[in-house]
Amino acid sequence: MSGLTWPLADGRPEPSTITPTLDRVNDTVARLRHFLDTYRPPTPCLVVDVDTVVDRYTRLASAFAGYRVQYAVKANPHPAVLRALTAAGAAFDVASPGEIDLCLAAGAAPTSLSYGNTIKKPTDIARAFAAGVREYTVDARSDLDNLARLAPGAEVSVRLLVEDGPDSVTPFGHKFGCCAEDAVRLLVLASERGLDPVGVSFHVGSQQLDPEAWDVAVAEAAKVFTATAERGVPLRRLNVGGGFGLPYTGAAPSTETYAEAVTAAVRAHFPTVPELVCEPGRAVVAEAGLIRSEVVVVSRKRPTDPHRWVFLDVGRYNGLAETENEAIAYRIEAVGDQSSEDGPVIIAGPTCDGDDVLYQRTPYRLPLSLRAGDVVDLLDAGAYTASYSSVAFNGIEPLRTYCISEGRLISAE
Ligand SMILES: *Cc1c(COP(=O)(O)O)cnc(C)c1O
Repeated sequence: MSGLTWPLADGRPEPSTITPTLDRVNDTVARLRHFLDTYRPPTPCLVVDVDTVVDRYTRLASAFAGYRVQYAVKANPHPAVLRALTAAGAAFDVASPGEIDLCLAAGAAPTSLSYGNTIKKPTDIARAFAAGVREYTVDARSDLDNLARLAPGAEVSVRLLVEDGPDSVTPFGHKFGCCAEDAVRLLVLASERGLDPVGVSFHVGSQQLDPEAWDVAVAEAAKVFTATAERGVPLRRLNVGGGFGLPYTGAAPSTETYAEAVTAAVRAHFPTVPELVCEPGRAVVAEAGLIRSEVVVVSRKRPTDPHRWVFLDVGRYNGLAETENEAIAYRIEAVGDQSSEDGPVIIAGPTCDGDDVLYQRTPYRLPLSLRAGDVVDLLDAGAYTASYSSVAFNGIEPLRTYCISEGRLISAE
């Protein structure tokens, strides 16, 4: 999206005339709304408070003390987010040459990048290796062969399939990873092929609300460490992935609870604690972002229906991909002077696609006074929103992102 600069409303004040009066980290939503009310950018848009991103990263890094923290870029690859995280000392989980370029442009060192995607073309590997990326994750023989050829001597982790244990809200299903026996085979083969087999990774599913979910996977990883050591290939690194959840409209464990559970699982299953890596995406950026959206139509299908349909200018294809199956239920608040009485609503997006209905089973209520032209805020929307937005489905442009720091606009790329 580089080269694009999003418009702001005419007559907005110059950035220098805005005095940030709000607390730097404790008033994220107030600061996001302060920006929106001052600059009045066209809707829909995502505003990300970069200070909150850094705050969440720092909290996570101190809860997971001793771990290398690799931010999963796909959650929000905005250049200002990546620059701030680079400055804060983060490492990065990247999934494509495009994400590598974004990280390098943000000032990240190639050695801070880990290529975690197991689905790579030979040209992706060649580009990553040429860019200086030295760590890769595999789960299949052909990918390992390509690595041996195109990334000689590179560090290789094998991703384990996580089949047992509790499902997360947005699970990866059976797409990634291989069974423990195949992991051992791949790691031994990596050693034979002149690669550096470093260890095992896994992901227990995104928005994983059960901290005990890591235990099963860590136990399985420990078995792989033992089996490869017996075959003369000692491993040294365990990547416990991301998946740490947020409350949204429900409840979620704290970062500290996740860290304690994961570390307890490692201590329980590993006689010697290996180098540890975690890979949060959502937990770093979600709470830093807010989507403001305009109500386009409010209607009832029949006069007697209890539900109103509320159509927003943001939907499944321009930022709210994670509403599929109503997996992520964002907090949605009407902005401004609304009557206190509310009623049940079905919430839908603006496109001519029947799937572009955000919530019809999850009970949402909005003020009875809500009218076309009013605006609503979707909170904790900094993760997996703008990065999932289509380019122009139905002629609707991608979700715009404005990044602020200390209450001021720092980037509208
Ligand atoms: C998406 C992803 C993550 C981040 O997951 P969250 O649930 O956002 O924390 C970490 N590692 C890998 C390999 C991923 O694909």
